[in-house]
Amino acid sequence: MAISRRKALQFSGVLVATTALNASNKIDGLKLKEAVKTNTSYNAPLSPAKGPRVVVVGGGWSGLSIAKYTKIFAPNADVVLVEQRYEFISGPLSNLWLVDKIELEFLTHDYLQAARENNYTYFHATAIDLDRKNRILKTSDGDVSFDYLVFAPGIDYDYSRWTKDIAFETRLRQEYPAGFIPGSEHITLRNKVLNFKGGNFILTVPSGNYRCMPAPYERACIIADYFKQKKLKAKVILLDENNAITIKKEGFQSAFDKLYSDYLEYHPNTKIQNIDLDKKIVETEFNEISFEEAAFYPHVRGAKILERVGIAKDANNMLEGDINTLTYEVNDEKDIYITGDSRPMGFSKSGNTSNSEGHYVATLIAQKINKSKKIKWESPTTACFSAVSIAPERAIYIYTQYAYNKTDSTFKFTSTSSSENWLKDGAVNADSNRAWATALYMDMFSK
Ligand SMILES: Cc1cc2nc3c(=O)[nH]c(=O)nc-3n(C[C@H](O)[C@H](O)[C@H](O)COP(=O)(O)OP(=O)(O)OC[C@H]3O[C@@H](n4cnc5c(N)ncnc54)[C@H](O)[C@@H]3O)c2cc1C
Repeated sequence: MAISRRKALQFSGVLVATTALNASNKIDGLKLKEAVKTNTSYNAPLSPAKGPRVVVVGGGWSGLSIAKYTKIFAPNADVVLVEQRYEFISGPLSNLWLVDKIELEFLTHDYLQAARENNYTYFHATAIDLDRKNRILKTSDGDVSFDYLVFAPGIDYDYSRWTKDIAFETRLRQEYPAGFIPGSEHITLRNKVLNFKGGNFILTVPSGNYRCMPAPYERACIIADYFKQKKLKAKVILLDENNAITIKKEGFQSAFDKLYSDYLEYHPNTKIQNIDLDKKIVETEFNEISFEEAAFYPHVRGAKILERVGIAKDANNMLEGDINTLTYEVNDEKDIYITGDSRPMGFSKSGNTSNSEGHYVATLIAQKINKSKKIKWESPTTACFSAVSIAPERAIYIYTQYAYNKTDSTFKFTSTSSSENWLKDGAVNADSNRAWATALYMDMFSK
């Protein structure tokens, strides 16, 4: 079954009515337990809060959604989005940009517009520390006091399973970036692909809950198709630490077999043991593979800022026990939340998941501000398209939600469906992919 534009939007959750919760201006009492030493400080250049202040760290798919919807559901809240970037660049659909199938403009969006249209403040700064006792977020541009605080800082890479040598790690980050945090990494990768003359182009898939399960397979297909169209003597070598394709297996496997047998080699269950960047050789348990170019995607962890500010002991191995998995609140810190790809729950680390979860977290915060009736837990929605070819453009799709098991406090997939027959449904899915992205960008950046 192909996924029509209408269905795609319906499934993504952005058509869900945004009924505002009751507004009343009372701020919850402060119940913080732990005192931390305060540093000398200066105030951020922000107007005094006119209502309960909600500070959101990170303007990605999660933070943007929380900032907008908190203001809708609790109009008296004074919402500040703290983001270290000057503009937003989308991860979703960025693989198409690597081969010029989509404009950078389509992926790039304006934080100022998002803040203007949705009546909150975009504060360009980096969060660096937290004074829990006095409820102050310390940033590179001064202190911001808060009543509610959300950390949605996304991921950091964890290279430790490949190397403990910082100099070598720096070379990997700089010369062969993973391309899973949009910005310069993507530009480097794009130039590598567009300028590739031939030979082996290595891509890797980490194990664990890495950012966007299907994206490395999608990227492999897109780059292989690009080499095919250009009739290059070139191969994408996809080294996967997992035993098999982790998601949309049927669709990706048939694309590998039917479309790219001469351009893509897939190696499941393959752990890298050594990388020689000078000789350009990767050693695995089974063999040595030489390469002309590569993008090494290491393991993924919750952003390090969570440890820096003391709300996660080890964001690399954050446990579900570190936060309340139903309310996203940090344990012992009633009004501090961790959301998006940083969360420890095993939800898919994807844009739609973060965005839909953001709607829910916004209702939780608004409910506290408004002192209105408690709301029930809502599952995030994972709705994800992946391109399998660029000429013609065809895509596959998966949808899933999560069910909470009270007995063992775990989540499992539920209501899963997919559309993986790219030969039959691929063109419609590709069209819906762009429609989905447009709708989500509107949800985050427009009124
Ligand atoms: C190549 C690629 C393809 C993808 N494809 C899809 C797809 O098809 N569908 C899909 O649903 N998802 C896809 N994703 C995944 C999606 O992009 C992520 O899951 C999503 O961005 C997670 O949202 P987030 O808000 O948690 O983190 P992010 O979007 O990474 O946002 C975190 C933000 O926090 C900011 N930040 C971090 N630390 C600080 C600090 N200390 N102070 C201030 N700001 C800070 C960062 O600058 C960043 O803007 C893809 C990702 C990539 C890279």
